[in-house]
Amino acid sequence: MPEPTPTSTHHVQLAGSGKSFEVAAGETILAAARRAGLALPYSCLSGSCGSCKGQIIDGSVAYPYNPPEALKEAERAAGQALLCQAVPASDLTLAIREVEAIAGIPIRQLMVKVAAKHRLCDDVMELKLLPARREAFKYLPGQYLDILLPEGKRRAFSIANAPSHGDTLDLHIRRVAGGGFTQYVFDELRLGQVLRIEAPLGTFVPREGGDRPIVLMAGGTGFAPIKAIVEHLLDCHTQRALHIYWGARHVSDLYLEDLCRSWQATHSNLRYTPVLSEATALERNQYRCGPVHEAVLSDVPDLSRFDVYMSGPPPMIEAGRRAFVAAKLPEDRLYYDSFDYAPDVLAALIRARAVGPG
Ligand SMILES: Cc1cc2nc3c(=O)[nH]c(=O)nc-3n(C[C@H](O)[C@H](O)[C@H](O)COP(=O)(O)OP(=O)(O)OC[C@H]3O[C@@H](n4cnc5c(N)ncnc54)[C@H](O)[C@@H]3O)c2cc1C
Repeated sequence: MPEPTPTSTHHVQLAGSGKSFEVAAGETILAAARRAGLALPYSCLSGSCGSCKGQIIDGSVAYPYNPPEALKEAERAAGQALLCQAVPASDLTLAIREVEAIAGIPIRQLMVKVAAKHRLCDDVMELKLLPARREAFKYLPGQYLDILLPEGKRRAFSIANAPSHGDTLDLHIRRVAGGGFTQYVFDELRLGQVLRIEAPLGTFVPREGGDRPIVLMAGGTGFAPIKAIVEHLLDCHTQRALHIYWGARHVSDLYLEDLCRSWQATHSNLRYTPVLSEATALERNQYRCGPVHEAVLSDVPDLSRFDVYMSGPPPMIEAGRRAFVAAKLPEDRLYYDSFDYAPDVLAALIRARAVGPG
């Protein structure tokens, strides 16, 4: 059951930086922080993925919208909160790491033209979008954009190219069974057509500094933001060891294998490991098989010296999160984007679950 919506404005202070902002009645803490220009981490905006988890040091919150699905009972009892859903019920002091890199990059709505549309594999379409007025557009590798649809609906897609790689925004769009927008992209969207987007969004961006080795784990089209991040790291001539794991059902789903293999051939610090979850007998002879996060753990049972970036379907993210933290990866060095369905769909699913069958 949703909790009652708090009816007064409240003041929130961040324990680390001392920065503060006002939250309007009924507004989520994350929305107010973004309005105030603060860069707090987030991804799904539905309470499912846990990217926006913060620690309440003083005060209390309510969840009048979606329940905090990504929060375990014990975490909630220990004062943790999901800021994309939490509304202050009092003034608050919060501890959460800010993402300095995205501070000051304006989030804008703009029209983009479909400059190219090309099938990468059976169920993944590449779109190249060009700002319709050719205006300059700033974003960081790993960020995503929202396609704005009628009735306030929006659909999120990661930008698959680093900003320095071309003047288009490239998307890798997987066709979702029963999915309104992705089916439209495959069946009807034409070259030259104009779409309205909001961007850049998200905090799944490379964190600079340190010389720790990096694991980059993608599931399916979760390869899109990983590709942009790798392009950026290679452009910066990073000396850090990079190990890309790309999980897919079959080899035909690894739609940019040649690119990964060419990175591996030309950069001695980069390794690429494809992992198939539904391999045929023939594929089993040539490829690692099983859940992709298990391949990571079998290579690196102790992740305490690593940074990990992962993106892809929610079950992969959830499994990776649990397993990697159990393998000694500090939670603040685990960065991820969970490819959840849009907030309107998730809210409908959560409502339907709460009501139950019949
Ligand atoms: C940060 C982020 C980045 C992402 N990046 C990518 C990316 O780079 N590439 C990519 O392929 N995907 C990405 N995704 C996932 C992508 O946003 C979804 O696949 C997309 O929103 C699906 O849109 P759709 O309109 O086709 O499907 P929807 O119409 O939203 O439907 C999704 C599914 O839910 C079902 N459904 C819809 N409404 C209801 C309802 N009311 N009750 C029950 N079931 C319902 C549909 O039948 C379908 O199976 C990303 C997601 C996030 C959050």
